Amino acid sequence: MKILSSDTVLITAGKDKGKTGKVMRADHSARKIVVEKVNIVTKHIKKRADGTPGQIVKFEKPIDVSNVKLVCPNCKKPARVGFKKLENGKKARFCKKCGEGIANPKLSKK
Ligand SMILES: [Zn+2]
Repeated sequence: MKILSSDTVLITAGKDKGKTGKVMRADHSARKIVVEKVNIVTKHIKKRADGTPGQIVKFEKPIDVSNVKLVCPNCKKPARVGFKKLENGKKARFCKKCGEGIANPKLSKK
């Protein structure tokens, strides 16, 4: 999958179209991601018999990766992502706009 957690993405479809946000979680098998403050749904929880009060909780629902574009950390533009093979045999992501490599934000954290 081209989008990893901690990436910044632009939403290209749905009610939050045009927003950008940070990816909090990425589900690779379902190809869905959870983006901070995007696709927020409100859930009303009824009070329970044991005395737990009713409440309203807001949380982000996962969205499909096909509805977002990665914002390149180098040129700050929403870009398509390509893969290239490195000399060590590993695959690396790169921006198709500026050609710069895009590191895994998790691995580049210091
Ligand atoms: Zn770029």
